[in-house]
Parts: sequence; C-alpha cells; structure tokens
Amino acid sequence: MMLAQQWRDARPKVAGLHLDSGACSRQSFAVIDATTAHARHEAEVGGYVAADAAAPVLEAGRAAVASLVGFEPADVVYTSGSNHSIDLLLSSWPGERTLACLPGEYGPNLAAMAANDFQVSALPVDEDGRVLVDDALRQLEADPVALVHLTALASHRGIAQPAAELVAACHRVGVPVVIDAAQALGHLDCNVGADVVYSSSRKWLAGPRGVGMLAVRPELAERLQPRIPPADWGIPMSPLEKLEHGEHNAAARVGFSVAVGEHLAAGPAAVRERLAEVGRVSRQVLADVDGWRVVEAVGEPTAITTLEPLDGADPAAVRSWLIEERGIVTTACELARAPFEMHKPVLRISPHVDATVEDLEQFAAALREAP
Ligand SMILES: *Cc1c(COP(=O)(O)O)cnc(C)c1O
Repeated sequence: MMLAQQWRDARPKVAGLHLDSGACSRQSFAVIDATTAHARHEAEVGGYVAADAAAPVLEAGRAAVASLVGFEPADVVYTSGSNHSIDLLLSSWPGERTLACLPGEYGPNLAAMAANDFQVSALPVDEDGRVLVDDALRQLEADPVALVHLTALASHRGIAQPAAELVAACHRVGVPVVIDAAQALGHLDCNVGADVVYSSSRKWLAGPRGVGMLAVRPELAERLQPRIPPADWGIPMSPLEKLEHGEHNAAARVGFSVAVGEHLAAGPAAVRERLAEVGRVSRQVLADVDGWRVVEAVGEPTAITTLEPLDGADPAAVRSWLIEERGIVTTACELARAPFEMHKPVLRISPHVDATVEDLEQFAAALREAP
C-alpha cells in the first residue's frame, strides 16, 4: 500500500475517479513542474539553448527507458508516440515487406502496416487471443516472414502475451520481433530480448502526452533506410539520428524523462505486482454486475479489465454517462481498435497502482445504475 500512497501523494488530487491509465495516466507534480520549468527556460534563453541545457536530462531519460526494455541508451530515439514509432520503423524497413501479427492487432498499427505496403499474415491464437507459441513457430518455419510484430498487451483486452517466449521462438527461425509496448511498458516486463520495442509516454509511465520512444538493436538500426533526408544526399547522420531529427516538444520529453525516472525509483517489479493485484481485485468486484461480462480471467497479470455488454448497453454511451453523472473516467473501445478480433464494443477500465477496493466498488455501483 506504500506504493499506492506514494503514487497518490505525488500528483494532484483527482476530481472523481480516474480508471483510465490505458488512455492517459495522471502526471505527477514532478513531471508537471519539470515540463513547466523547461517551457519557462525556453522563454528566458531561447528554445534551442534551453534544449542544449536539458541534454543531460534527456540522456538520463533515454538511459532509463533503455534499461526498462533491455537496450543500450544509444539504441533509443524519442518519438511523438507509438503510432509515430511504428510508422518511422516500417517506412524505413530495408527488406521484404511481409510480417505476421496476432488477429487482435491494434487497428491503427494495421493501418500503418498497410500504408507502408506490408503484406500481413495472422499468427495462431487461443480463444482469449493469446498467441500459441509452438504453433506460431511451426507456421513461421513453413511460411517465413521478414518480421513478427507483437502487441505485448492490447488496448482492447487485458491479456498479457507471452512476449519472451514468442521472441525466443522467432529467433530460433531467424525472424526479428518488433514489440508494441504502448500498454506494456511500465506494466509488464518488456525486457524480453526483442529486436525493436516502441511505446508511449502518457499511458502506464504517466508522462506527458505527445511523446514516445523507439528502441532498435544496432544490427538492425544500421540497415534502416529513413525516407528523410534521402540516403543519396550523403548527409552524415546515422539512421537513428535521422529518425529522431525534427521538431518536437522538448518540454514534454523532459517530463517523460522525469516520469521514467520516477517509475524506476518506485521499482518496476513492485509496480507490475501491484498492477496485477489491481486487475485481480477489479475483476472480482465486477464479476457479478448484471448486464456485463468480464472478459479477462481474474488472475490475468494486468490492470486492464474489459466489460462486454450482455443486454445491449452501448459502451460509448455508458462511458459518457459515467463522466457526466459520476465523474468516473473509463474508455469505450470500438471495433476499429482490433477489427479482426472484436465482435462487440467493450468498456475498459485501466486503474493505476493507487486504485482502492472502494474505488472499484464505487465504479461497480455506478455501472449498475447506468442507463
Ligand atoms: C495507445 C496505443 C498505441 C498508440 O499510441 P500513441 O502514443 O497514441 O501513438 C499503439 N498501440 C497500442 C496497443 C496502444 O494502446
């Protein structure tokens, strides 16, 4: 409970109930202050001078996030979010454009794959949408692809994928693995030996919006072919430098660096354990709410819990009602979020480490009253 109390004390008092870290967590005072201080410094000395002065903070953030995913600091670039990261990677992809991913792949990722002319095939999964690693290995042997893309934890369903096992299997057949850790970073162990990992700041790490990261192993990074600036212009920048180049919100990157530092100080293993406990309690409390089915097994080690309507409730309308009438923030996931897996929209809660049993009971009571 120490962790919960520290997390709560470190940020502004919540107005109502915030059960929406899968969309955007609540930032801490330290993150907000660091972001504000950087913006102020930009006004005092100029934006580019302030950016130079902030370089040590940004390098510390890079090193911190690298340690979380098991990469070297030099392998990591800042981006503006996960969608930006996957597009940067796929648009620079050097070889054949074929990939395999799960049927439950995130809709906007499928869009990035299509926009970059990737031919996509589906890996085998069980009835929960969890990849069947041995079957996947056999499929990859029979039908090789240039890369496997795994969303280690989806946005529409709180199933923890066996990322380390899939990476090991893919490496047995020489296939690199790219991990979307938008929901997994700061939530599940993302140090799983993948070739590429990318994520967002604002979700479980509770950094500012509009920041993300992309980590690429050096052997792959040196083969990437960023579109801008064109390779034949001979500009002396490494592929990763090219990917990171361009206008960005430096203050937000400073804030993200502070957020990752706070996560490391809290202890990633302790956060993971607490989030698993929050998920377990959520599903126990929500198990007997009439008209809704909890999709995840009680013991699934994530804090994402989704509710499928049984009697025709509309998750989007219920979400709006919860905000307007009860001050409770959740997410309604429409089918576009995982178009090849979802059959019904679901209501998602994604409470952080500070959620109490009383909070979850309050949510369950509100859900019972929702029209
Ligand atoms: C939120 C999310 C993304 C997109 O992240 P952005 O930072 O908004 O670009 C990608 N994948 C998953 C699984 C997500 O939940």
